[in-house]
Amino acid sequence: MILDNFKICEGDLDNASMARYLAADAIAIDTETMGLVIGRDRLCLVQLCDPQGYVTAVRIEQGQTSAPNLKRILEDPEITKVFHFARFDVAQFRYTFGVETAPIFCTKIASKLARTYTSSHGLKSLVMELTGTELDKSAQSSDWGDIDSLSVEQLNYAANDVRYLIDAQTKLTDMLKRENRWELAQECFKCIPVFVSLDIMRYENIFEH
Ligand code: MN
Repeated sequence: MILDNFKICEGDLDNASMARYLAADAIAIDTETMGLVIGRDRLCLVQLCDPQGYVTAVRIEQGQTSAPNLKRILEDPEITKVFHFARFDVAQFRYTFGVETAPIFCTKIASKLARTYTSSHGLKSLVMELTGTELDKSAQSSDWGDIDSLSVEQLNYAANDVRYLIDAQTKLTDMLKRENRWELAQECFKCIPVFVSLDIMRYENIFEH
């Protein structure tokens, strides 16, 4: 069974979903791709979720280079885009659509800055601790390229990857403020586009000794 409050869109967000998302101050976003190498592994699916839990999954066609409604959400300065490891998704959006995503909140960076009592900063551990929900990651490494034939299991997995992110963002923001690390977190989020540029140009570790 496909979960409730979940819509599949072809090629771009439909106008009704875009209008709904434009009213939100934060939207959780995740992508599914053919792999982890930007430029080799294409974007297949983009999942979005608003603070009320309304999820859309946008199927991206092979060779597709634009998605105007998605672009509008990604570039809207009034909507914070919440990702887990934003660096990858933001690079995919820039590479695929030429879109500059902003503003950004990355739950992985926020977790590393706030949850210094653990080394577990994966989405599963983070969501388990902050929301008490156990994510099923069994469809993580699967073939997302045949977008017309995605299984119910894959779609539910994809939806769950965005469903708990805003809750996690809220809790991480509280922790960061409590520990006086909120300004530092915001400075880190602003650096993500620079890391994206370096990643797309294949530079590695240029800040290391
Ligand atoms: Mn995912």
